[in-house]
This record gives sequence, C-alpha cells and structure tokens, in this order.
Amino acid sequence: MRPIYIAGNWKMNKSIAENNAFFEGLVSFNTSFNSKRIVQIVCPPYIYLEKTKEITKGTNICIGAQNCSEQDNGAFTGEISVEMLKGLNIEYCIVGHSERRQFFFETDSLIQQKYLKLKAQGITAIICIGETLAEREANRTFSVIETQLEGIFDGLYTLDNNTFLIAYEPVWAIGTGKTASPEQAQEVHQFIRNWFEKKYNKEIANGIAILYGGSVKPSNIKELLSCPDIDGGLIGGASLDLKSYTEMVSIAEGE
Ligand code: PEP
Repeated sequence: MRPIYIAGNWKMNKSIAENNAFFEGLVSFNTSFNSKRIVQIVCPPYIYLEKTKEITKGTNICIGAQNCSEQDNGAFTGEISVEMLKGLNIEYCIVGHSERRQFFFETDSLIQQKYLKLKAQGITAIICIGETLAEREANRTFSVIETQLEGIFDGLYTLDNNTFLIAYEPVWAIGTGKTASPEQAQEVHQFIRNWFEKKYNKEIANGIAILYGGSVKPSNIKELLSCPDIDGGLIGGASLDLKSYTEMVSIAEGE
C-alpha cells in the first residue's frame, strides 16, 4: 500500500513569526497523532527552512523546499543549491511548479536537471505537471501530460521511484477555487501511472506516488483520496492554516 502524502506549498507567504507559530502548533498536533501511512510535508519559504527544521526536530513532520538550483555552486545570484538544502536535512523539494514554469520560464529539461541533482543528494523531488485551461478545452490534456513526462524523464532508462513523487496539478485549478472532479483527476492519474508502466514496468508504476493539486481543501480531500490512483495532495491555500492542514491530515488518516 502506498503512503498518503499531505504536502503544503506555502509559496511566498507568512512572516517568520507566523511560520514558527504554525510549526509549533503542528508539533503539538503530532504529539497525539500517530500514523504509519500519512506523510506530512510542508514547504515554507527558503528563508524559514533552518528555523523550521529546528522546531520540528525529532518529529515525523517532513520539510520541503519550493525550488532549487540546477547548478552546484558559483555566480548565480539569489539561487539556492541542492547541497545547501541537504546541509539543512531538507527531505523534499518541489520542482516544476506551474508558477515556476509560467513566471520563471522553467522547462521540462531544466526540471530533469533539478530532479537529478536532488536525487544525487537523496532529496525527494515533488515533480509537478499539469495542463492549462486552454489545453484542457482543446482536448489536449493527455498529450500535454505525456509531453511533460517525456521531457522530464527523457534518457532516464532506469528509475528509482523512491526518489520522486509526481504532483498532477491542472493549472486551471491552482489557486482558483476550482477543483478537478474526482473523475477528472483520477483519469489523469491513471494515465500517468500507465505512462510509467509503458515506459518502465508495472512494479515501478505501482510504486509511484501521484499527488493531486488544485484547490484541495478539507471539504473535498476525502473524495479525491478515495480515487485509486490519488496518493495525496499538494496543497497551496488550504495548507496555510494550521486547523485546515491538520484537518486534512486527520481526514487522510481515515481513508
Ligand atoms: C499549489 O500551490 O500547488 C496549489 C495547488 O495551490 P492551491 O491549493 O491554492 O490551488
């Protein structure tokens, strides 16, 4: 049985005081929450990572970064390397979020480079893919997903599925309040799993965790998680509030 991931992507939100208060609260929630199946991941801004690791030390709470550089080091003003993240014992890193693709022009081949750097350091990549509204309306969802997967995994002939998670995030559902219906999400998740089976093998495909992202919240997470190929959520807005994040963790535990 695959784990269920409840992953929060905070983007550029919260003050340091708000960050610390959230994690102190989450640590306290976890004193009475014990689950072998749920993986809690929160990805705050880079600048809070060190303090956050200090607050969550010794707990099951996993901390992720929202991005990383594909470069090892050097004259890349403003960038953060994978080695720096490793130095803070960061366990996960989001790559290829649609906002990075849209505002920072990230491509599938750049996403592969970042994934390989993360893999080399033992940090699990949360690899985001998803179609825009125009692409969905033009009936191009599956071809867009396929192109993204082909680009990201191009030339990778063997795969270790413990080194990444996939997050299917239809761009039209991110931050818009519109959620893909469980049926819409499931058919894409199944398509993704089948793609891995065709390209690699069934064992690899069955081991890959595929998260859904796009306006997930306490009121819709249960039905999304009830789909056979949905293994958790990558959650923006609703992960910012401790009550709503822990509610989603508790709902997932009941699945
Ligand atoms: C996201 O940031 O990846 C996301 C899915 O955001 P939201 O849950 O707010 O739609």
